[in-house]
Amino acid sequence: MNIPFSPPYIDQDIINEVNDSLNSGWITTGPKVKALEEEIKKLTKVPQALCVNSWTSGAILMLKWFGIGPGDEVIIPAYTYSATALSVLQCGAKPIMVDITDDFTIDVIKIKAAITSNTKVIMPVDIAGWPCDYAAINELVQNKDIVAVFKPNHKNQEKLGRILVISDAAHSIGAKVNEIETGLLTDITIFSLHAVKNVTTAEGGVICINLPNSFNNEEEYAYLRMMTLNGQTKDAFTKSKAGGWRYDIIDLGLKINMPDVCAAIGLAQIKKYDRNLLLERKRVFYQYSQAFSNYNWAITPPQDTETIQSSYHLYALRITDISESERDLIIDEIAKTGVAVNVHFIPMPMLTLFKNLGYKMEDYPNTYKNYACEISLPIYPQLTEEQVKYIVSSVVNSYQAVKLNVTNS
Ligand SMILES: *Cc1c(COP(=O)(O)O)cnc(C)c1O
Repeated sequence: MNIPFSPPYIDQDIINEVNDSLNSGWITTGPKVKALEEEIKKLTKVPQALCVNSWTSGAILMLKWFGIGPGDEVIIPAYTYSATALSVLQCGAKPIMVDITDDFTIDVIKIKAAITSNTKVIMPVDIAGWPCDYAAINELVQNKDIVAVFKPNHKNQEKLGRILVISDAAHSIGAKVNEIETGLLTDITIFSLHAVKNVTTAEGGVICINLPNSFNNEEEYAYLRMMTLNGQTKDAFTKSKAGGWRYDIIDLGLKINMPDVCAAIGLAQIKKYDRNLLLERKRVFYQYSQAFSNYNWAITPPQDTETIQSSYHLYALRITDISESERDLIIDEIAKTGVAVNVHFIPMPMLTLFKNLGYKMEDYPNTYKNYACEISLPIYPQLTEEQVKYIVSSVVNSYQAVKLNVTNS
């Protein structure tokens, strides 16, 4: 049986919505993007949602908006997809990596130890769709001793008066803490709508703007929207209207807007997300957890509690007492059965760019420990119960073949 890792969810409603965009005579940023932003506001209850062409470009935009540049430090976990750090490097600032805890999220004690007078932003990552400890992180940035060392050097830094929290919620759309959706848990939250994410526009991202009272979220949305369009006062849709030709360029923006034809995919998906697609992911997640609870070598990922609900983006299985090379051999065995699995993530200090910048794996022991024994299993709405059973037995047989020298069949 061949089981892909993460095929996109495409049904007739999605095809209809894309066709509607194609047939409308307007394919770039316009009514579909607006409708998608409205659906995201409805789902997450955030004051403002701004669609862009990727998580990465959205993060660069928000760091620039906060005046981040050379000399500034942004605290991130060592365990994440590289885009978290790359967005910081693109602004000329320094990513300060810290270690994680055993639920894969950034260690708040390590954040505290890493804060200096150059710290401007913290970017926690909701790995696998499991929200970070935002109560602790928000308390930390508002702590008076921490506020006292904050040195603003930009108008938005002065207006906020403390470290900004930008949540890397690339995985966690629809996750909740105390019934509050991701998007509302921090100042800024960015979702990714990349092809492998829970909701997709092929490529895309959404910036949720939830700034405190010293800011007007609606005005910031209008400004940021313009900054996604080269700092141009009118978008192409407005300019295309009769008599609407005149515009101005008022600031140095980026060109990172989302096209309508892409937004249409996400629009059709998000309409069935919380009542259908997310529940199907949850079904697969719990079928795995149930099955693996029978094996004492399997560490199942954190499960929903009274207060925390995941978005079940990844099923990050860990295996006790194996080395990194044994994990790799297990993956090779699994691949022979036609099941595509993955590893989330190769820690950034193991990648060439970051090694060359001086980051060292031995500084993040818990990141390495969790990476070395991790295997991400397929999780998506289209997976049947039978396929999940097949994946479980593939993993079990592969573990036994590598670790116990047992060969089944
Ligand atoms: C996918 C991902 C990103 C990047 O998203 P893009 O939309 O591809 O730019 C950032 N952070 C994490 C944790 C991701 O998994």
